[in-house]
Amino acid sequence: MIVYRTKNDLTRHLDTLRKSGKSIGLVPTMGALHRGHASLVKIAKDQNDAIVVSIFVNPSQFNDPADLEAYPRTLDLDLEMLQGLKADLVFVPSVQEMYPDEVIRTFDLGNLERTMEGAQRKGHFQGVAQIVSRLFETVAPHRAYFGQKDFQQLVVVRRLVEILGLDLEIVACPIIRDEDGLAMSSRNVRLSREERKAAPFVHITLQLAREKRGSMSPAEVKMWVELRFKEQPIMKLEYFEIVEDKELMPVTNWGEQVNKVGCVAVQLGKIRLIDNLIFD
Ligand code: AMP
Repeated sequence: MIVYRTKNDLTRHLDTLRKSGKSIGLVPTMGALHRGHASLVKIAKDQNDAIVVSIFVNPSQFNDPADLEAYPRTLDLDLEMLQGLKADLVFVPSVQEMYPDEVIRTFDLGNLERTMEGAQRKGHFQGVAQIVSRLFETVAPHRAYFGQKDFQQLVVVRRLVEILGLDLEIVACPIIRDEDGLAMSSRNVRLSREERKAAPFVHITLQLAREKRGSMSPAEVKMWVELRFKEQPIMKLEYFEIVEDKELMPVTNWGEQVNKVGCVAVQLGKIRLIDNLIFD
């Protein structure tokens, strides 16, 4: 495994691989790696001749400076994990390396950046688009791997590929959960013991909501979920939506011929938890 800190060094190596016809997979991360990230790395390893895992806590996607400050950073452990997973190349750039100038591109993400996470975290998806487009430009991968856990981000990245006209396959990877159902996330280590105990409520609620399909309309399911969270004192629901997977517009009727996903965000102590479940 080779760790690169500059775009130049990384691209020099990648050019050699490309010239010898090797396929390249990219797994972008912000570090503090867990089993969720490891699953992306394993899938990418299976499908490509060589993979690049990037570790970069991207300031432009944080709308809250305190969240950026508190974001867990565990580079040594991350590198150990990646070594164990036999990652080929790891890219750990500095902020200066990824943002050498003030030039910021704006992407027309339409409703994708106005709804759900976009409404709660102003500018977040423009920040995601900034960094992902720069990583795509640097690595020029054949395939890139994103977790279904950040479902809206996945849809945004697919849109970005369309906007940029890239010949690049985006591979969606399943959500990895702890045994009690909580979706794994780097931020989970900041939950108190009591909060951690309460956290599976989110996933359980999504599953119960999905079961209501037979007896309730989408709007009624939404009301049912909102009521259920009101009765739970420890966490505050930010949103629950059942949306289709292209424009993320709310589903109004179960008969619609679209892929349906139930998406939820809650505030639990200092942490926001997001999760989702396919509702088809
Ligand atoms: P992050 O480091 O949080 O930016 O995540 C990097 C990538 O890992 C993103 O594509 C995430 O969606 C994905 N990821 C994070 N947590 C999980 C999880 N529990 N299951 C599957 N993928 C995940």
